[in-house]
Amino acid sequence: MAKHEVLKRFYNSDKWVTFRLGLINERGNTCSRCNQIIAKSKDLIGHHKVELIPENVHDHNISLNPELVDLVCFDCHNLVHHRFGYKAEKKVYLVYGPPLSGKTTFVKERAIRGDLVVDMDMLYSAVSMQPFFDKPDNLLMNVRGIYNQLLDNIKVRHGKWHNAWIIGGYADKYKREKVVNDLGAEPIFLDVSKEECLQRLAVDEERQYRQDEWQGYIENWFDYYTE
Ligand SMILES: [Zn+2]
Ligand SMILES: [Zn+2]
Repeated sequence: MAKHEVLKRFYNSDKWVTFRLGLINERGNTCSRCNQIIAKSKDLIGHHKVELIPENVHDHNISLNPELVDLVCFDCHNLVHHRFGYKAEKKVYLVYGPPLSGKTTFVKERAIRGDLVVDMDMLYSAVSMQPFFDKPDNLLMNVRGIYNQLLDNIKVRHGKWHNAWIIGGYADKYKREKVVNDLGAEPIFLDVSKEECLQRLAVDEERQYRQDEWQGYIENWFDYYTE
């Protein structure tokens, strides 16, 4: 049950009830995870891939967006949210690929609240208070220290996180395989060509004054990449 009053009100609202029934009509009464046919439609739960919080519940691009709502059975829903002893094994993913391949977006669309995300760029922002595209060189050792600490935590499954997502370039095959083996991570490669990355950079507003710098990062990645 939702713990915030505003969320309870949303789940009881006509808008949501109608929306959910509409999805069931469209998609049929099968659980999208285990494919079981669910006899009573009330047992089919509309699960929000982006977890609803009081701050986003009124944004219908999130709360009433068909692309962000899965229909799942009771058991699968508890598994997704790690509720009531429905414990799935902690999964670790290594999401790698060149700069501007969309790693952060990929993880944002899949991680749930309570997952641990280890991203060098975000850690940089956290300790420098600078925007993500501006990384003061002199802080590198400290950022790397936190990064490595988190990887050590993941390695021994320390902490109560659900799944862990490690985001990085990992162009080097040796370094990549070390993480995969040491941490028991599943590698996910965002296979985007150099041309595509450069094209994305050319139209990227946030990096528009740092084209050269980021072009350098992209070139570098492809120079070092070993399959
Ligand atoms: Zn299911
Ligand atoms: Zn849910």
